Amino acid sequence: MNCCIQTVQGDITKVDDVEAIVNAANNSLLGGGGVDGAIHRAAGPELLAECRTLHGCDTGEAKITKAYKLPCKYVIHTVGPIWYGGNDGEPELLANAYRNSLQCGVDHGIKTIAFSAISTGVYGYPIDKAAVVAVDTVKEFIREHPGKIELVRFVLFSADVLAAYEKVIGERTIL
Ligand code: ADP
Repeated sequence: MNCCIQTVQGDITKVDDVEAIVNAANNSLLGGGGVDGAIHRAAGPELLAECRTLHGCDTGEAKITKAYKLPCKYVIHTVGPIWYGGNDGEPELLANAYRNSLQCGVDHGIKTIAFSAISTGVYGYPIDKAAVVAVDTVKEFIREHPGKIELVRFVLFSADVLAAYEKVIGERTIL
């Protein structure tokens, strides 16, 4: 089956028609601001309790938990790189975050995944550059794992991030 890649503007904590959402977490996995804070607030305190058992996550890696009060089944927590100017391995680390999140999903039989725009908030990754890494890495993973993933949706909080992703993908789906 072909895999569908979508972009939508919206709040990832409201997504109820995918199995897993991908959180832009930090190395502690103990919650933070931005999308991470929103996910923990919506999931409830049991999510933090499970995250405490995971003992953090290295940058570019991914770990999975249940989703508790969120309307999806799982949360895949990944940690994108902080942007230090682009010569500190940032593109490779961001690609790893997307790749390892998808692999984590496949390892758990997950076929539908929604991503937030990892590293584009507090971590300061330039949006245009992050969109290229996100889209290229997802497309490459899908090519290399035929039949494993049915839907990848990029859920973008703001219009400027949405525009950057759409420019790269060249398609739009309304939430
Ligand atoms: P990072 O630390 O990886 O930069 P942030 O949470 O600061 O993570 O930002 C990542 C992206 O998530 C930003 O583009 C931000 O606008 C977006 N974002 C914030 N809240 C939400 C939400 N509820 N749903 C989807 N995206 C969100």
